[in-house]
Amino acid sequence: MSFKPSEAEEEYFARLEFEKKKKIAEEQMKLLSAKEKEDLKKTHFMHCPKCGIELIMVRYKNVEVDECPNCKGFWLDAGEVEKIISEKDSFLSNVLKIFK
Ligand SMILES: [Zn+2]
Repeated sequence: MSFKPSEAEEEYFARLEFEKKKKIAEEQMKLLSAKEKEDLKKTHFMHCPKCGIELIMVRYKNVEVDECPNCKGFWLDAGEVEKIISEKDSFLSNVLKIFK
């Protein structure tokens, strides 16, 4: 007998993993001073978190997406995730629901 996790289970574990990592990140953020946060922002703002290349802002439908010209990854700001989710029942909106 083979065990195949259902979609709901996979979603549950993805959310669990995300919550765990979020907690650790939040604890780390508490240890940083306002000055350190400001310095980090200056260094990383609008730069790809994977390769450090400057991101290009692209408007897609009603959403502004920051895209990396090198690795083709893209990033969304907090409110923009909600816009995509509310738009329609697409694959992307279903994926993003996990991280809400
Ligand atoms: Zn990149």
